[in-house]
Amino acid sequence: MALIHTAKYLLAASGSPLEGGALLEDQGRIVEVGSLKQLQKSAPLVEIVDYGAAVLLPAFINAHTHLELSHYPAWASAAGVGSAPCSFVDWILRLIQVKRSIQHEAMHAAIKSGIRMSLEAGSAAVGDILSWYDGRSAFAETPLTGRIFLESLGQDVGVTQQQFKRLSKVLKEQGSGRFEFGLSPHSPYTIRPQYLRQLFEHAQQQQLGCTIHIAESPAELAFLDNGDGELIERLYSAVNWYQHRPEPRHLRPIEYLAEHGGLFKDQLLVHGVQLVDSEIDAIAAAGAQLVLCPRSNAQLRVGTAPVAKFKKAGVKLALGTDSLASNRSLSLWDELAFAAEVYSDSFSAQELLGLATTGGAAALGLQTQLGNLQPGLKASFQVIPLTEQLKPHKLIETLIHTGEGRQPQALILDGQLVKSD
Ligand SMILES: [Zn+2]
Repeated sequence: MALIHTAKYLLAASGSPLEGGALLEDQGRIVEVGSLKQLQKSAPLVEIVDYGAAVLLPAFINAHTHLELSHYPAWASAAGVGSAPCSFVDWILRLIQVKRSIQHEAMHAAIKSGIRMSLEAGSAAVGDILSWYDGRSAFAETPLTGRIFLESLGQDVGVTQQQFKRLSKVLKEQGSGRFEFGLSPHSPYTIRPQYLRQLFEHAQQQQLGCTIHIAESPAELAFLDNGDGELIERLYSAVNWYQHRPEPRHLRPIEYLAEHGGLFKDQLLVHGVQLVDSEIDAIAAAGAQLVLCPRSNAQLRVGTAPVAKFKKAGVKLALGTDSLASNRSLSLWDELAFAAEVYSDSFSAQELLGLATTGGAAALGLQTQLGNLQPGLKASFQVIPLTEQLKPHKLIETLIHTGEGRQPQALILDGQLVKSD
């Protein structure tokens, strides 16, 4: 049954707020967007849902998460692992310790919680990294969509060959629930170079989405440059990889990636905090995309991504929360409020909104389905109550800056009400 949804404002990702705006939805798709009057003319018999003093805007796309870690804070405290600020490598060591302290099966409930938190925060889709492949069944019945990037890492030939076999078998299923599968070689410092190359080739041959953590920390730079530093001295010792430590390569992260066949169109790079001009130009030229995770970067104290340079070079950008091992929530409203502070010199509120909507949709290959309110796309939107009178020109800025803790009063995905307070 078709419906007209209307509220005080309708806010598409790519325009200014439309006062008295409305959208006509039929069978889960947006048929028309315009003023309520206009839509009543084109569909006079269709029932109207009026949300009153509220804003309709596209549901968000969180382009980088690890939902299997959504119970990390409780696991860490049960394992006696500290949560005080620490270095990047200390944080990885803590994460390994916590993951070793739990039963893998515990990640099933964590994924379910992560899905619930994502929906509560107004997200329609996530780009999720999954290291425990059995966890894919937790995605089977949710209205949330996106990509599950099956994670790979390891240095030992035998281990990685086994992993690739298992990976290939799971990939035959193509997806779980509304999610498609993709690949995620973890990072340049956690994966055997030959295996890294093999995974990138596989992703391209099979036309699978692919994502990798890159240029996140200064420790990664030292690793790729001189083959030394904290990652070797501490991580490689701790996980018995010391015999796999590399020779000095004198490469920057993007040079290393390109050398292993990992710089290609729509490759989804995550973090990019340490990137320099030549690398940024190479990313833009290749048509790769980049997910910014500003709160995770701040929590791990690795620096702030050079977003003004990304923007100038025309790099396609999205926004992600990363996991609850390095962030306090899975909400893009929270992430946007923080991004508005740390990237205030580079992005307008409208551009920030674009990261969480059209940018995220492009990052996950969902641009023909999500990320905007326009005919042909899915009727997937959130309803945000307005608590004060706002002039249209202040609306986006106010929504972004005061977004911390915000939850939509309703989330409609594919025309279906998912949650309503
Ligand atoms: Zn991550």
